[in-house]
Amino acid sequence: IYFKVNGDEIMLLDDKIEQIRADFAYLDEKIMGKNIAYLDNSATSQKPISVINAVDNYYRYQNANPHRGAHYLTVLATDAYENAREKIAKFINAKSSSEIIFTRNTTESLNLIAYSYAIENLKKGDEILITILEHHSNFTTWHYVAEKTGAILKIAYLDDDYCLDMSDFESKLTDNTKIVSVTGASNVTSCMPDIEKIVNMAHEKGAIAIIDGAQLAPHKKVDVQNMDCDFFTISGHKMLAPMGIGVLYGKKELLENMKPFMYGGDMIEYVYETHSTFADVPARFEAGTMNVGGAIGLGAAIDYIDKIGIDNIYQRESELAKYLSEEMRKIPYLDIYYPQKAKQFGAAIAFNVKEVHPHDTASILDSYDIAVRSGHHCAMPLHSYLKINASCRASLMFYNTKQEIDKFLSHLEDVRRTMGYGLE
Ligand code: PLP
Repeated sequence: IYFKVNGDEIMLLDDKIEQIRADFAYLDEKIMGKNIAYLDNSATSQKPISVINAVDNYYRYQNANPHRGAHYLTVLATDAYENAREKIAKFINAKSSSEIIFTRNTTESLNLIAYSYAIENLKKGDEILITILEHHSNFTTWHYVAEKTGAILKIAYLDDDYCLDMSDFESKLTDNTKIVSVTGASNVTSCMPDIEKIVNMAHEKGAIAIIDGAQLAPHKKVDVQNMDCDFFTISGHKMLAPMGIGVLYGKKELLENMKPFMYGGDMIEYVYETHSTFADVPARFEAGTMNVGGAIGLGAAIDYIDKIGIDNIYQRESELAKYLSEEMRKIPYLDIYYPQKAKQFGAAIAFNVKEVHPHDTASILDSYDIAVRSGHHCAMPLHSYLKINASCRASLMFYNTKQEIDKFLSHLEDVRRTMGYGLE
């Protein structure tokens, strides 16, 4: 146990954080030659040594192609791969591990839904409802589905606190809505919409509800049965796991009635000269040799998160984000796109230094070994809606410290100065 969750006490346990930080090699100043304050966790998280070791161990001692053949190594590989699936099912409280499909990432998971469910089921005049918060992966996919099926894409907008305006959402939900697809946590404004309410409202209209969990699963407890969502997506690389492994959770009764997304090996039942029949879920949706090492790495990432406790992680990240946002609000030359009134929020704070392009801000901060994201964060419609071209984003993970935040805050002044502005 690394943290005690007891209000402010969480900030007192920095000695435990040091233990955790020892698991992250990029923090080794001797090797790196720098002391990097990595505040770009929403883009991708860093990976603890246990995850790297799990992948290494698989390729050294267990490498074979799962589900194919009968020899010792293929059995080891199959067990390790299926064990990872079990861990994910438990992590998000799926009813069964057969509801867990491995994909490359959230983008692929959403495409799988689009091709195997949406294009097959939607028709002209049907409606898809998303929000302006969505990442491009939850936008462009629906542009394509709308173009293919004649369905109409509707968008719900925000309140004055950078969060989803639930009354706008409600007004756009109609008897024609067939799909609702909403982020569990915005990668720009950190808004965490009320998912259970959204799913409930969607179901009342007979629509299915998809939750993009890319920014939610790494930071906050997810219970897909409680949420009652029909689909939920995960990107492993945002939650300590390697890149190239993701998850689509889907309710079994939906998955069982969906056609395959990709065709090929290991997803079939029988193949004849003229046609084929397909395996049960989840194999039906895992065509070809999968990223087995990645799945095992994701399993190890979940073990690591479980060791700390996802509720402890949320608590610590919320404390850090509260501190960071409060300090940022004291700085007059910043524009901040982050909720103030919301009850729950993520730990990514988008901002702009007034009169400075975000790429300049990020480059100047980088010269002090501070890593923040700059650009549109794959959320161009949201940036247009906010009437900005781009922004910077400082995004936190439990292994960040108050010292790193202070370092970031102190160098914001250098951005203004370097660009020739005063501090007002
Ligand atoms: N959805 C959200 C909210 C994201 O933040 C991201 C990535 O930043 C994605 C989806 C896409 O994730 P990936 O690139 O891993 O598919």
